[in-house]
Amino acid sequence: MTIILDGKKTAAELRARLAQQVADFEAARRIRPCLAAVLIGDDPASHVYVKNKQTACQSAGIASRLVRLAVDVTQTELMREIDNLNADPLVHGILVQLPLPRHLNTQEILDAVDPHKDVDCFHPENVGRLVQERPRFLPCTPHGVLQILRAYQLKTAGKHVVVVGRSEIVGKPMAALLVQKHGPLGPDYSNATVTICHSRSADLTQVLRQADMVIAAVGQPQMIRGEQLRPGAIVIDVGINRTDNGLVGDVDFASCQQIAAAITPVPGGIGPLTVAMLLENTLRAAQLQTADYMTEK
Ligand code: NDP
Repeated sequence: MTIILDGKKTAAELRARLAQQVADFEAARRIRPCLAAVLIGDDPASHVYVKNKQTACQSAGIASRLVRLAVDVTQTELMREIDNLNADPLVHGILVQLPLPRHLNTQEILDAVDPHKDVDCFHPENVGRLVQERPRFLPCTPHGVLQILRAYQLKTAGKHVVVVGRSEIVGKPMAALLVQKHGPLGPDYSNATVTICHSRSADLTQVLRQADMVIAAVGQPQMIRGEQLRPGAIVIDVGINRTDNGLVGDVDFASCQQIAAAITPVPGGIGPLTVAMLLENTLRAAQLQTADYMTEK
């Protein structure tokens, strides 16, 4: 029988544990971790994402701050806001909600975030550290994927994992974690043989048929179908697509469920884990910014 991997339940367990860690840290150091979100313009989806993250912060005992800016904010004004947050000792993590309006230079903004407050793990220094297996922060969505795999003891060591998508936020860091020798969650949840596919991959189906595990992060509603999978494959659907029929993933759940040994649903799969991992990074940022509490490798 196909196992439906319950991201909501796994995230709730992780968040309960985290809330305790936040409380312990605050009791020991009299510092409440704080996440600042920068939200630009009126994109409804971005507003929902930021609201969810703030609610999650509250439930974990993490303070949150919202910096709202008009859609026509200039690059200089936004850079100044980032500088202010970088310099503010009460702010430990900074999140710039993407996508930014087209007139802004996203790369320059993300590079301006202090790498010690970069809870999304976008800064080149943090990406470099991740690839070198000495991470400061773990990227939230790929870390969430590893967490659900560990929760269900779906080991990746020695397995052929096909990651579909090569974005900086999901595909590339996902592959970087899976290929590690030691891995942040232990060697059983890394050490995979990894193939990365993208829009120029010549024969996606032929590659998918060889996969023990498929991780889909494409942004194309229900693109991957059951008949493309090897029977018994594990399917992790990172996709979140808004359609007339509600939220759907990048995987066609109905046909893949027939073939897969285990599969994540959308919604209720990786989304809740991403938020939980953001909270974990905010606590870690506060710990790293507190002298003697935690040191880096
Ligand atoms: P991007 O658009 O940045 O990247 C999509 C990737 O998929 C690209 O590498 C692209 O290839 C590849 N791709 C597109 N079409 C095809 C195709 N037909 N065949 C093979 N590869 C293809 O998306 P993101 O990585 O940011 O997001 C992916 C999905 O995950 C989205 O649905 C997004 O909403 C969701 N998401 C969910 C999160 C969560 O918390 N669950 C968090 C972040 C994202 P190329 O590089 O060649 O263009």
